[in-house]
Amino acid sequence: MRILITGGAGFLGSHLADRLLAEGHSVIAMDNLITGNTDNIQHLIGRPDFTFIRHDVTNYIYISGHLDAVLHFASPASPIDYLKYPIQTLKVGALGTHNALGLALAKRARFLLASTSEVYGDPLVHPQREDYTGNVNTIGPRGVYDEAKRFAEALTMAYHRSHGVDTRIVRIFNTYGERMRLDDGRVVPNFIGQALRGEPLTVHGDGTQTRSFCYVSDLIEGIYRLLMLPPSEDASLPVNLGNPLEMSILEFAQIINEMTGNRGGIEFRYKDRIEGDPQTRQPDITRARNLLGYEPVVGLREGLARTIEYFRARVGVTANPSKHAE
Ligand code: UDP
Repeated sequence: MRILITGGAGFLGSHLADRLLAEGHSVIAMDNLITGNTDNIQHLIGRPDFTFIRHDVTNYIYISGHLDAVLHFASPASPIDYLKYPIQTLKVGALGTHNALGLALAKRARFLLASTSEVYGDPLVHPQREDYTGNVNTIGPRGVYDEAKRFAEALTMAYHRSHGVDTRIVRIFNTYGERMRLDDGRVVPNFIGQALRGEPLTVHGDGTQTRSFCYVSDLIEGIYRLLMLPPSEDASLPVNLGNPLEMSILEFAQIINEMTGNRGGIEFRYKDRIEGDPQTRQPDITRARNLLGYEPVVGLREGLARTIEYFRARVGVTANPSKHAE
């Protein structure tokens, strides 16, 4: 298959590119690089089956030749990033999704939307199943991301129902691994960066809020299976993907300090907790299990060990740029 990945230089987009290329497909990665980075795809540049195009998908997307699939992964995805780029976040969810769907329609290609657990907002149902319609504050700081993705899902279903486009929607829960940006503000790179520098881990609030962390290769496996599923009405409905192993942020901080041998401890930062920060989050993956035979297989400590190794090299560079320059 010839596949376009928007956000192809991002954390998930680049891992997806690796997987698709390994399966023998050819990949066009598109990215405007506001939160993506070509370092993530450097190893692919020069391959005949890989192309990178720098482009902002909120503008018309032109691709010559046929396409078999369009995977729409472009968007700022960490709270810090979408607070920094609120209008771009809304535009890529709305205009970017429209352009990507229009392209899929024109090329008769399959379309897969990277949606998010944020469509459930600060959930009142636990764990979250796909039929839960969510609890989102439209005008809160996270609203720019949540509503953009909710609109993107609505538009995807509209193209499916009105134009017959073969569409897929994956609701991605917290995922971590190599190629996350050290400074993207999310809890995994933040805590690991702090731990490797010997600093206290900054727990927002009292740390009782929960998350469920999925290692990137497990997520990519689920996305690949969803993409390859034969077309059906069921395949077009949203699917949660993530790892249901849930823990409090405080517990998570303790694990990071233990695994890195950090003596910096923990610092509670009540003021840093962003309004509307979900108190709980855990995917119900029953649908993914039944539809895709999906099951996460990488344990938390195993995935974290790999991620810590990845960040270890980068913390050295970031923490001491003068040394790096020498
Ligand atoms: N968090 C934290 N300290 C940090 C960064 C994040 O305690 O340095 C908390 C944050 O308040 C949230 C959870 O960790 O409750 C997960 O945050 P993240 O930004 O990774 O993503 P989210 O799941 O909120 O989209």
